[in-house]
This record gives sequence, C-alpha cells and structure tokens, in this order.
Amino acid sequence: MDSRTRIYGILGDPVEHSLSPALHNAVFKARGVNAVYVAFRVIADEFAGAMEGLKSLGIAGVNITLPHKEQAVFYVDAVPNPAHKAIGAVNTIAVAEGRLLGFNTDAMGFINDLKARFTEGPEGRMALVLGAGGAARAVCFGLLEAGVQNLVLHNRSHERGLGLTNYLKQFYPGRAIRAVQSVTELGREAVDFLVNATSCGMKPDDPYPVNPDILERTRRVYDLVYAPRRSRLVEEAARRGIPAHGGLGMLIEQAVAAHRLWFPEADTACERALINRLRIGKQCG
Ligand code: NAP
Repeated sequence: MDSRTRIYGILGDPVEHSLSPALHNAVFKARGVNAVYVAFRVIADEFAGAMEGLKSLGIAGVNITLPHKEQAVFYVDAVPNPAHKAIGAVNTIAVAEGRLLGFNTDAMGFINDLKARFTEGPEGRMALVLGAGGAARAVCFGLLEAGVQNLVLHNRSHERGLGLTNYLKQFYPGRAIRAVQSVTELGREAVDFLVNATSCGMKPDDPYPVNPDILERTRRVYDLVYAPRRSRLVEEAARRGIPAHGGLGMLIEQAVAAHRLWFPEADTACERALINRLRIGKQCG
C-alpha cells in the first residue's frame, strides 16, 4: 500500500461476519491492482456522515449492507440504471468525478445463483419471500423479472411487507402479489421457492425466520444468510430432503458484478480469483 492505493469498502452494521473484504482483496491481489477493501462498521445514526465522508476521503467505491441499503438511495447523486432505481435499494456505489453513483447487484446476483442451484427455474412458479428490507426488495424484483407468477411476502412488521407488495404491484400488474401476516394464511398451498431475505439466522441462537412447519409443503429453499454457511433453516430443509442452499453463491455473484462496475476493464480472471478464494477459504464462512 502507498499514497496511491485506492480504497474500497463495505458500510454496514454488523460487518464482522462479512466475507466481502476477503473476496475483493483476493481479486485485487490476483489482478495486481493497487487497492484495498476494508469493512467499516457504520451505525444507523452515523450513516449520513459516512456517506458524506466518501467523497471527502476520496474513497473509490463501496458496498452497502444491512441495514442501510434502502437509505443509501437517498444519499447517492444518481442511480443510472432504471431497473436498479426501481428496486429502491443500493448495494454498490462507484465514486466517479466526485459523484456517488448507486447500483444494485443483489437482484442479478440472487437470480443467477438461484437458477444455477436448482434444476427448475422460477418462471410461472410460486415464491414465498421472508423479509421486506433492502435484500428482500432485490429478491422480489429478481424473482418477478424471472417470471414468478405468484409472489407471497411475509415480514415480521406486516405494514412494511404490505408497503413493499403494493410497490411491486405497480411494476408487475399481471402477477399475483400479496403480503400475509402469517404463513398459515397459505393453507395447503404448495411453496415452490421459499426465500429467506431476513437477517434472522445470522446469530447462532436465532430462531427459524418462519415456522418450520411450512417446509412440509415447500419444494426448494434459498437462504440469503451465508454466515453461518448453512443456517438452521437450510439445515432443517436438508434434513427433510428438500433442496436447500445458503447465500454464498449470491455473495460471489453480486461481488463479481460490483467489481465490474468499479473496474469495467476487468476480465473473467477476477471471477475465477473470487471463486478460487472461496474454495480455498472454506473456513472463513
Ligand atoms: P435490512 O434492510 O436491515 O432488513 C432486515 C429484514 O430482516 C427486515 O425485513 C426485518 O424485519 C427482518 N428481520 C430482522 N430480524 C428479524 C427476526 N429476528 N425475525 C424475523 N425477521 C427479522 O437487511 P437486508 O440488507 O435486507 O439483509 C437481510 C439479510 O440478507 C442479511 O442476513 C444479509 O446478510 C443477507 N444478504 C445476503 C446477501 C448475499 O449476497 N448472500 C446479499 C444481501 C443481503 P422488520 O421489517 O420487521 O424489521
């Protein structure tokens, strides 16, 4: 590192669990880029100041993680991609000529990994999404864009869930989109894809993000939580013989997309380096 080292990072709370520094630093090293990626723990009250500081400190780019993705939209100068703007959550910022440009690589990262993990895709299917925060927004857009016909959302705060479903209906008027206060409202309806987009599952003593009885009629499970590598929900689904995956693949996909935004000239070597870093560093999950 020297006076020309470009600084990248992740802003969130918590960030101690994040694999993003390991991933991005591995790519910088593999590509011989003079850059470093660090984790900044930023509490909600300090978020505005941290965003202001990006420009002042000459930070080159950041990822935004929980709980700030929805707030970040209001602090960037522009969200150039209309599809990313519609999501209403920013997880990647590139600083270009003193302007903060916001992007969302979560939606694409999620759907790419979902399609890679399961033999059947989401087109025409039913999906039950847990959560209504920044990640859930990206997941819902990703699923609807991929052709999900029937989307049910369940969030701890029902009002927030309702708000998100009403918002989604404007973009996908032909689809069945609704929020439920309890998953018992689904009756015997089968769930093709159960997606956990809440932060419940990150701590060892967290309960299930949903009553596990729902697994009796669930066909596939995807949990965005990647630390621990296999959440309680994923473990329980696997125990019942249901195909179930954690969020590590999504993490890699969204990181590759973020890297391309920061280094448009990057080639596939960076993707390979990311994936190899994960294969080598299995213990870091
Ligand atoms: P966020 O904006 O802070 O939203 C958190 C969501 O989790 C809200 O819907 C919240 O419900 C819900 N929640 C929190 N604690 C809960 C609990 N104990 N029981 C039930 N629901 C609970 O966070 P986010 O950015 O959306 O991130 C959500 C999760 O996705 C995190 O675990 C994050 O690490 C993960 N994620 C993973 C990837 C990946 O690449 N694998 C990418 C993005 C996010 P309320 O509205 O009721 O508060």
